[in-house]
Amino acid sequence: MQLVFATNNRHKLDEVAAKVGDKIELLTLSDIGCTDDIEETGITFHENASIKSHYIFEKYKLNCFGDDSGLEIDALNGEPGVYSARYAGEHGNHAANIEKVLHNLSGQTNRKARFRTVISLLWNGKEHFFEGAVEGTIRTELSGTEGFGYDPIFEPEGYNVTFAEMSMEQKNSISHRAKAMEQLIAFLSTVD
Ligand code: IMP
Repeated sequence: MQLVFATNNRHKLDEVAAKVGDKIELLTLSDIGCTDDIEETGITFHENASIKSHYIFEKYKLNCFGDDSGLEIDALNGEPGVYSARYAGEHGNHAANIEKVLHNLSGQTNRKARFRTVISLLWNGKEHFFEGAVEGTIRTELSGTEGFGYDPIFEPEGYNVTFAEMSMEQKNSISHRAKAMEQLIAFLSTVD
């Protein structure tokens, strides 16, 4: 059976595909010929994940899931949150986003934060949500070169390195995205 992952990130898809086995054929947006820019107009991760899965389900009538992730910082009232990718303005400018976070947190002693992922799956017309989070703190300086986004300033709880100082395997074993994906995969293993 076919299942669309509302992403064009092949790396994200491969991570899930490796775990769901042969039973489910996973497809990206480009696999189904969808080149539309699905706008993330929601103000919560749930809304944005849901916008993606509904868009594909309604247009292509295919089972589908969408995900949305971001960083929530307690001292900034949950910012950058759903605006994580475009916190400093331009979408995906990670260096500027990090600079803005460090600037807004300067002198702040409460550095608690978490990465969060929400997945919305539309399976035979019914919506299911799966969530994952990883708690941590925001460093005062960048450290490490692995990963992407806010990884160089995020130290997960229980470790004294940042996400950017971890191997991809180590990060993937504890990350918000991996936790949410594990739940999705567990659900998919129960359907026939
Ligand atoms: P997406 O919803 O997975 O595309 O994530 C949105 C934004 O959140 C990214 O552009 C990053 O700024 C941030 N983000 C999400 N996951 C991570 C992560 O694992 N490490 C660092 N930044 C992340």
